[in-house]
Amino acid sequence: MSKYWSDLAASLVPYVPGEQPKDQTYVKLNTNENPYPPSPRVLEAIRNAADGDLRLYPDPTCSELAEKAASYYGVQPNQVFVGNGSDEILAFAFAAFFSPSNRPILFPDITYSFYKVYASLYRIPYKTVPLDEEFGIPLHAFDEPNGGIVLPNPNAPTARYIETELFRGVLEWNSDVVVILDEAYIDFGGKSAIELAAEFPNLLVVHTLSKSRSLAGLRVGVAIGHPDLIEGLNRVKNSFNSYTIDRLALAGAVAAFDDQAYFEETTRKVVATRERTTSRLRELGFRVIDSSANFVFATHPGHAASRLFQELKQRGVLVRYFNQPRIDNYLRISIGTDEEMDTFLKVLEEVLSLEGGSAES
Ligand code: PMP
Repeated sequence: MSKYWSDLAASLVPYVPGEQPKDQTYVKLNTNENPYPPSPRVLEAIRNAADGDLRLYPDPTCSELAEKAASYYGVQPNQVFVGNGSDEILAFAFAAFFSPSNRPILFPDITYSFYKVYASLYRIPYKTVPLDEEFGIPLHAFDEPNGGIVLPNPNAPTARYIETELFRGVLEWNSDVVVILDEAYIDFGGKSAIELAAEFPNLLVVHTLSKSRSLAGLRVGVAIGHPDLIEGLNRVKNSFNSYTIDRLALAGAVAAFDDQAYFEETTRKVVATRERTTSRLRELGFRVIDSSANFVFATHPGHAASRLFQELKQRGVLVRYFNQPRIDNYLRISIGTDEEMDTFLKVLEEVLSLEGGSAES
């Protein structure tokens, strides 16, 4: 606390990202990064963009990238918004579409913790909808008066996916408010709801290049929706910072959309490794929620997750543990390369046997 902080700064409870440790080299399975490097074409495009033109501001409308994303997603460029990571898009969307004086916005009780942070930042009232016992999102609970809705699909950190068609009801019941579908992990096994954007002017679908395109370090996200929603986002962005995407990021992101084969290949590998990891974890006695993301969410009936987290960390494997009601006995494990997952599984087996329980179920 400092006497120089505004009331707002003093009242905030900021989001805490997963560790990016510098003390040693870990098998790093804690922040859902892609284990594969970006496409070589992306790296080449960034190198080529690193020239004297960096003295010039980037294109504030990101028009080349918006056109590229529009053709990839089968929409018009005026239905695309580009942001500095999907976090920034979410931050702008909360400001653009949700109001402090309106009814509470709704999102699940177990979900991406940034939603709560943004709501608090803008003083937007919110209400959480409890997931069911299996961590499913009860969509019927979103049929009540509200000030807007945020739903991640697949959900984080549970990795559970909802069939896209099932969102129709939510969109119909809530035609007077904006429904944000956060599809950060959709490329790892889900079907995007973007096609519903043509039918529902209240739908904003948010994607990121951080996960399936291996570009967490470049900070690029895209949102797709009705042109009026995109204009709303631009009004907020241009009241904040006109140049959120720099020249290198623009060049890299355009090249990422150009290399479809690389994207498909790396995504396929992550999914195959996820399935193999899931099977092995189940053999070891874990309950693993069926995942459609690049991470799995798992619990063991005989071993406390908090301890497993610590023991793994001591042995150089970093996963994510959330000390929160309902999920404090779960680990979220990002999917690495096959080699990394083999190391993780080997260390995990050691830890399980050390703890006295049987490693095999
Ligand atoms: N949504 C969800 C559900 C996430 O897990 C993340 C990653 N932390 C994001 C959005 C933000 O990703 P980025 O800002 O890297 O696009």
